Amino acid sequence: MIVMKFGGTSVANYEAITRSVSIVESRLAEKPIVVVSALSKVTDLLYRISDSATAGDRQSVEELLGELRRRHISLVNELLADNEPLCVQACAKVDEICDGLDSFVGAVCALGELTDRSKAKIISHGEWLSSNIICYAMNARGIRTGFIDARMMMKTTDDYLKGEPLVGEIVKNAPETVAKAYEGADAVITQGFIASTMKGEPSVLGRGGSDYSASLIGMAVDAERIEIWTDVDGVRTADPRMVKNTRSIDRISFEEAAEMAHFGAKVLHPLTIEPAVMKNIPVYVLNSMNPEGAGTAILQSDSIEDGVKSISFKENILLLNIFSTRMINVSGFLKRVFEIFSENKVSVDLISTSEANISLTMDASQNIDKVVRELSEFAEVGVDTDKSQVSIIGKNIVNLRGLLRQAMSSLGGSNVYMISQGASFVNISFVVDRASLSDVVNEVHKYLFEAERYESGN
Ligand code: ADP
Ligand code: ASP
Ligand code: MG
Repeated sequence: MIVMKFGGTSVANYEAITRSVSIVESRLAEKPIVVVSALSKVTDLLYRISDSATAGDRQSVEELLGELRRRHISLVNELLADNEPLCVQACAKVDEICDGLDSFVGAVCALGELTDRSKAKIISHGEWLSSNIICYAMNARGIRTGFIDARMMMKTTDDYLKGEPLVGEIVKNAPETVAKAYEGADAVITQGFIASTMKGEPSVLGRGGSDYSASLIGMAVDAERIEIWTDVDGVRTADPRMVKNTRSIDRISFEEAAEMAHFGAKVLHPLTIEPAVMKNIPVYVLNSMNPEGAGTAILQSDSIEDGVKSISFKENILLLNIFSTRMINVSGFLKRVFEIFSENKVSVDLISTSEANISLTMDASQNIDKVVRELSEFAEVGVDTDKSQVSIIGKNIVNLRGLLRQAMSSLGGSNVYMISQGASFVNISFVVDRASLSDVVNEVHKYLFEAERYESGN
């Protein structure tokens, strides 16, 4: 069995879905579990619907719901143009789903209030629509396709918008659910991103969570491999939207890929690798617009050579500086600091300490007002905004003599506010001004990948 996950751009429209269905067709002998995202930009649209409904803006809600329905209906008409009976059925299905959403959103509008649980329900509709439509398209192609409601097997905590997977439940449910859907079928399809709590309430795995769904399912059914089909030729030396001359990476370790994703590379959801590691399942990142391409294999570390693989970045971070003379020689100071972060559920990325100072970075999307207030009771706290974090990722980069010095020397006039070398020896990260991010990433990329300048320490 294999898992094949198709992201938003791989199911964006008629052409993309037709290509993706052909890719599935080429793998039927391996019993694929197809995991799909919402059509490209549909989850954003559903977020906008939620916002307009909360604001009670009925006109905007109606326009957006109309846009959602029209896009899916016209897709069905294109995909199933040659099969009228299926086309009628699929249109009725889309209408039924959209009618349900319309009345739910209508009720939210009337209330003018939206809980996270209701929001999770609204934003789940993207994957629900796409998976139903693609199931029809696969059947129309002659691929007998079993349909799985992911919420029956993907169980999470009740953090509705970023549910933490209950791995034990998923491992218990998935094999049986998949086996049942496979009865008399050539392939099965299910949704990424969406899940439910133990009480059966809707939840989702957080933005970009379909990759994570795919690897959780792959782990639960002991898949031979997990394929992440997207719009780039595999994992690259940097985000191609930021750097022009990126190269595709043939092979990379689980740790490197996890670190890249954690430090900002959008190509994979940050937690995708975790379930794959548990069962040592190879993950391939492939381009649905170039299915013959080799893509990137993400494998166990032993089979991966040392060296720099990629540069990741987080564009918008906060740099927190904590000063206290009380820190000197007082054990327990760090404990107190981290308890505050933990109690307020603020997660920290980088840490560096000196005698009377701790510097930390964190995602700017987190609200840290309370953290700052509580820290200020016993230390001086400064918050720098408009900062970005750049990470150089590679197995055992610590052994590459001079790498750090050379990477830094390529930064020219840009200020560096903090440097941190991960204990795992897989990354070196530093903080720069947001305004100089693009220059820094491009310069470091040029230094590391567009010229062989550093010496290997081995
Ligand atoms: P999908 O909808 O298929 O999940 P995403 O947009 O979430 O696709 O992820 C693919 C995008 O990730 C690419 O289009 C690319 O712009 C971006 N990306 C960021 N960093 C990298 C990287 N190092 N290698 C490849 N793609 C990257
Ligand atoms: N559709 C969801 C999102 O846009 C999940 C995903 O595509 O991975 O965040
Ligand atoms: Mg994605």
